[in-house]
Amino acid sequence: MFELIQHPNSSSKTLSFDNESLNVVVINRVGELDVDSLQNADALLIQTTTSHDANELIRSIRSNRNRLKALIPVFISSTVSNLQSIRYQFDGVFSDDTKEILLQRLKAIKSRLAEMNYEIHQLDYHQSLLQSALQFAYSREQVFEPVRNRFSKIGFSYPFLGAILKEEEANRVLEILNISCTEGYTTKKAIEKTHTCKKCSGGYLNYRECCPKCGSSDLKTEDLIHHFLCAHIAPEQDYKKEDTLECPKCDKELRHIGIDYDKPSSMHTCNDCSHSFQQAEVKALCIDCGHDNELSQLGSLEIGAYELTPHGEQIAKFGLHIQKTETTSKEIHTVSVQILELFKKQELSREQLEKQCWEGSVRIHPEIMSHFHIEQQEIIQKEICTIISKYLGKADVLSSPNTTWYRFLVYDKSPENIEKTGSIIQNNISKLITDGIGEYEHPAEVLITKLDNGVDHV
Ligand SMILES: [Zn+2]
Ligand SMILES: [Zn+2]
Ligand SMILES: [Zn+2]
Repeated sequence: MFELIQHPNSSSKTLSFDNESLNVVVINRVGELDVDSLQNADALLIQTTTSHDANELIRSIRSNRNRLKALIPVFISSTVSNLQSIRYQFDGVFSDDTKEILLQRLKAIKSRLAEMNYEIHQLDYHQSLLQSALQFAYSREQVFEPVRNRFSKIGFSYPFLGAILKEEEANRVLEILNISCTEGYTTKKAIEKTHTCKKCSGGYLNYRECCPKCGSSDLKTEDLIHHFLCAHIAPEQDYKKEDTLECPKCDKELRHIGIDYDKPSSMHTCNDCSHSFQQAEVKALCIDCGHDNELSQLGSLEIGAYELTPHGEQIAKFGLHIQKTETTSKEIHTVSVQILELFKKQELSREQLEKQCWEGSVRIHPEIMSHFHIEQQEIIQKEICTIISKYLGKADVLSSPNTTWYRFLVYDKSPENIEKTGSIIQNNISKLITDGIGEYEHPAEVLITKLDNGVDHV
């Protein structure tokens, strides 16, 4: 049995199949998308009036900072206008006829998403995009195929990455996919080639004949006529006599092309500089930036299809950080709480504190760690230690009593510097947590106090 139920007081619909039921949240307007619907839904169904709104929605879903939410299956209703141009960004077109197929597809994507590892780790923006793209391809068992797109800067777009990056950033989509290929995560098959503007890399070019002398495209073009009998060659205009053609040299009438005469080539005259010439120069005017490119200056882009390799599948499942954390974790030196206390005591026992010494503590909201398996918590703990140790000097001391508590001593920093360090650490840890599990009000609390027997909040 299969049914789609819309609850009267919410936009949520439930798709049922046999004994299972899956929660599909229907979104009718751009404003209806909220984080909760991403959190609790198995899939989303976009049912806006226009494809423009549907496009806006898929962009904000796919660019969610939380990878798990960004990869949620999203279907588009067959009732959306002009959906042909954007359907490649969706996991399927929903109608009465496709319900059953989409349900199977939804289950397949869901089980592949469940195979993936969503633990927290630090990636820069491009690495993060690359990893999400590989996860998208893996969960959809999909090859990144280029799609012709009139609004893309290079004329082609790709699923997922094309939804996240703006149309004018289409070159960056190719860069990311090419990195995936050179790193061995994908293989590339050339599909198309496109030429691009030398100045702005745009692919929307207007090719036309221009005057070789002044570059103007305002040309008058005429056929040349060759009269066989007397071998005279002149522009067609010179032969015109009312409705007939007559040779200006021998006054004979020209009747049949191929028998009396032929048109061996054409003649251009520039309306700007009056230069007459036979060979016009073809140039490519960039519609985006206005640069008039000589053909030899044009760039050339290969538009390919990218398919995941087994290595790419591993990265999709276990993350790009594997090699990364192994190398960095060796460099972090943490000490036990006892040793930290010892250092602190030593510092406080000095008659006069010549140097400025600070004690810092970072508390992670305990609820956050409860989302993770104990082994994952240890990885996160290491990541947080890495972040803090980046801003500590060689003599500074770091200790982590447990996965939600981090303590450190910092020597030799001015109040302004320590304040800045504190807020950088707070921002970076918050970002780490937000990237991993989503928005949190105050994921990490950083407190820094001066060691001078009194307490001095910063
Ligand atoms: Zn340009
Ligand atoms: Zn000219
Ligand atoms: Zn003649």
